[in-house]
Amino acid sequence: MTISRVQKSFVCYRHLGIAVDPIHVGTGGTRLGRVDNTIVRDPATKIPKIPGSSLAGALRAYVAMAQENTRDPSQREKPYYPDCAGQGQPRSGGSDGHCGQRNCPVCTVFGFARSSGGSSGFAGLAAFSDMHLLLFPVPTREGPMWITSPSALQLAGADERIEEVIKDEHRVYRPKGGAGCVNLGWLMLEVEALEVELDGALDGVPENIRKRVALVSDKLFSHIVNSNLETRTSVAIDASTGAAQDGALFTYEALPRGSVLQWEVTCRFPGHFSIDNQPLQAVQTPDDVHNVVKKGYPYLEALGIGGMTTRGMGRLRVLGNSGSDAYADGAQGGEA
Ligand SMILES: [Zn+2]
Repeated sequence: MTISRVQKSFVCYRHLGIAVDPIHVGTGGTRLGRVDNTIVRDPATKIPKIPGSSLAGALRAYVAMAQENTRDPSQREKPYYPDCAGQGQPRSGGSDGHCGQRNCPVCTVFGFARSSGGSSGFAGLAAFSDMHLLLFPVPTREGPMWITSPSALQLAGADERIEEVIKDEHRVYRPKGGAGCVNLGWLMLEVEALEVELDGALDGVPENIRKRVALVSDKLFSHIVNSNLETRTSVAIDASTGAAQDGALFTYEALPRGSVLQWEVTCRFPGHFSIDNQPLQAVQTPDDVHNVVKKGYPYLEALGIGGMTTRGMGRLRVLGNSGSDAYADGAQGGEA
């Protein structure tokens, strides 16, 4: 009698990151009020977010760079970077996009349009959720405070009863409790004591931020976030003269420095997939897939995500990214 081992078909890894610069992931120039270049928002809540596709795109390029930097030069028939980065279209320079080989960590983890053996595309073993706000920094007369909401905390694993904590939609709930009023931006609100512990949902958040957390209702959260986004003004440069273009002043909004974002990476079990009817070689387990993804994280802190990265924007520090598994708290799996 043989005993077949039950393999997990996927594992979810949760991550937190903090904006080191303002981050602008744009919608492509829709004008909203006074702002020319708006950022992506959740259609239901109007809360800004970074689409998972933006994260996947940035990480694909950074993982390709990291793999290229550490690879044995004698094994180098085809460069991971730039070939396996990007969207895989043939380039004018002669290289022809993703290698699509089963021993390529970039193409197996992030997918490709067409394999080297000619068979059709591969979706990739890692899937990225949107990056949602967990904590948002707001100036107050007592210094910065990081606000959060029941929905944001639930996404971070808090009990759904957290909603019941908010008895009055127009108040701010703080762990140390009621001390009159606090201003969040231009809004003046009464403070109430927060009678539950948020610790589990805030695991991994630095202590200096954690002690300045305040809870507000989902509705108020959206309102406060949207009225405290960073707005910058810039001017387009005329390439032929190197001077400012006439009438080319534009404004853009961004998540401010200090915003704490949360996202999930779902890693599929490589043994359930094949390329050209052959098993995958680059990765064997969901942990292997996750380890490939993590190689891109240090580059997010150096090179950033989104637009305007050459104007001092976009850098994101993944919290707990020490190169170990320590920061992938709360891994959840599904049985095959
Ligand atoms: Zn490849």
